[in-house]
Amino acid sequence: MNKLEQMLAANDYLVADGGMGTMLMAAGLEQGDPPEMWNVLHPDRIRAVHRGYIEAGAQIVLTNSFGGTRFRLKLHNLQDRVFELNKAAAELARAEADAADHPVAVGGSLGPTGEIMEPVGALNYDDAVAGFAEQAAGLAAGGVDVLWVETMSDISEVRAAVEGCRQATDLPIVATMTFDTNGRTMMGVTPAQAYAELSAMNLAALGGNCGNGPAEIEGVIQAMYATNQVYPFVAKSNAGIPEYVHGHLHYNGTPEVMAEYAIKVRNYGARIIGACCGSSPAHIAAMAEALANTPTERRIVETAVAEPTPTRTRERRRRG
Ligand SMILES: [Zn+2]
Repeated sequence: MNKLEQMLAANDYLVADGGMGTMLMAAGLEQGDPPEMWNVLHPDRIRAVHRGYIEAGAQIVLTNSFGGTRFRLKLHNLQDRVFELNKAAAELARAEADAADHPVAVGGSLGPTGEIMEPVGALNYDDAVAGFAEQAAGLAAGGVDVLWVETMSDISEVRAAVEGCRQATDLPIVATMTFDTNGRTMMGVTPAQAYAELSAMNLAALGGNCGNGPAEIEGVIQAMYATNQVYPFVAKSNAGIPEYVHGHLHYNGTPEVMAEYAIKVRNYGARIIGACCGSSPAHIAAMAEALANTPTERRIVETAVAEPTPTRTRERRRRG
């Protein structure tokens, strides 16, 4: 049994980490710079982020490799360094996980390519598979426990990522999508559709991440749990809604708000609970403490998720 599967079998729930990009911006990463370069330029800063989340109580940390496909790295002329930068990302998280005083699994983060798949867009399916396989090979070489496909909007891109991961390794795979467009993903996928499609991919866990804050992810988990009460669902909400304040992106979700979200989303059926953009170790610490001090009361909630006409105009979201 894989480490993540062992930890899921031994625990009612697992605490995952929060956002990486937000922490790197606070540490001096400039808007538009490739975060993956810091795996080799500033490995100490990346390790410090992982260490902060682990000390806050995270049992799963995700590598600094969200934009680590050749499709994203070529925007910075780094497309020839996919293996190196992903392997380095994995080694940094691995070192901190192995030094922790509690068991910590390392998830190798794979984010969207940033391109739209055929036939709507120009990205060929086989090219996408090859790109994800290349990234997964680097992450596996650096020692991740699980490959973690996240912030996805398009089912066919999830399928390409999973196929690429399987070409490169036999590690287990987690996949989460972002339901930030009136309860659907940017490409129009509902939580129920995501569950139906992703649960057929033999994943270790699936769920939602990023988006417009706790209430949105709570609805996603409710919808998935109403369909299946056994599957390990993942909730990694942004720390509230992003707003521009004095020219800086600010998230309105305090640690207290995120602690309430953690309790709710566990009751609604999530078993892997973390955060995404706008969060910090303070948020994860508040969530971990609240979860530890509150009994689980799982319940099925019949949701009335709005299902309006999907829109495709929104810009792809970076995990920040
Ligand atoms: Zn996010």
